[in-house]
Amino acid sequence: MTRRPAPALAALLLALLAGCASGPPTATEGGVPIDATRTAKGQDSRVLFLVIHYTVADFALSMKILTEKEVSAHYLLSDEPQPRIFRLVDESRRAWHSGASAWGDNKRLNSSSIGIEIVHPGYIQGPNGQRLFLPFPKAQIDALIPLVQDIVKRHQIRPERILGHGEVSPSYKVDPGPTFPWKLFADLGITPPWPDAVRVAAVRPVFEALPRDALWFQRALAKHGYAIEPTGVFDRQTELVLANFQMRYRPADYSGKPDAESAALLWVLTMPPSGDGQPAAEAAAAPAASAPAASAPAEAEPPAAVPAAPVAPVAPAVPLAPPDRPAAAPASHALKAVAVDDGSGHEERCPEGLCELPALACRP
Ligand SMILES: [Zn+2]
Repeated sequence: MTRRPAPALAALLLALLAGCASGPPTATEGGVPIDATRTAKGQDSRVLFLVIHYTVADFALSMKILTEKEVSAHYLLSDEPQPRIFRLVDESRRAWHSGASAWGDNKRLNSSSIGIEIVHPGYIQGPNGQRLFLPFPKAQIDALIPLVQDIVKRHQIRPERILGHGEVSPSYKVDPGPTFPWKLFADLGITPPWPDAVRVAAVRPVFEALPRDALWFQRALAKHGYAIEPTGVFDRQTELVLANFQMRYRPADYSGKPDAESAALLWVLTMPPSGDGQPAAEAAAAPAASAPAASAPAEAEPPAAVPAAPVAPVAPAVPLAPPDRPAAAPASHALKAVAVDDGSGHEERCPEGLCELPALACRP
């Protein structure tokens, strides 16, 4: 005699069967078979970007917001001593983490990205009212790195498309902030190589002698990938974008003010090395201020347009940055907190995840 399964067990079996049958159908409802035995060569992942965030909330609140509100991420990384990783949205589906966003020609990146939220408070108020960005615990970064590497490998995400939320939404976001170890990611080969210190030092004197104008910075930042309007003036959008750029590549000073070192970093990042590899020759070919050739794109400014640029010294006039760490030496991820002036109002943040203001909605 065969016993009938109890109702609860029957429901479970049905659910399991339904789960097994949840893949693409092998026939239409009308009975026409769908043959999936041949596949096309021309295809790739819909995932083009990986966007890294911090939550500005503790673990419990972060989980509550990201699972119950109209904001989400594919992954949540806890800040526990032994961090846990939660997949809240399947990678094949769209999570709502980067609503108004852009990088290069791509806009509204929810549709083309994987989002990772890191439980992290962002910053606290220092004793003088300044913002004090907190470090990321080493254990958390150690957990994050293989997660990123795995996602990048499976979706073949290009290194230059691994970005922070602030980079794709610089007008109202700064996460993951200036303490995120972007250089470590570069040293590990996850993100593009760090700006070569020799090239930066070689071209910096040229930019000190001939400070670049707003249009030059705007074009260089746009070439790097930022969504920025070429207004020709150092306006608020330029300040926010430049501050964001500095947070990643020069976290000790991210005032958002233009300076020679920022120009040199931008130039090295956006211009391929010259063939001979001579820093002095490169510096002599550094782009001129954009004012005389306002209609020319930054990258098209010819070396000849440097009328009286001083020849950069062969020996760099500024001390070189310490050489990059070897790729296999992620010594310490626990960077020191960074204090900043609170007077600029650089960060107009809605609490990460909350996004309750309509203008800041993370929903696509
Ligand atoms: Zn974010």
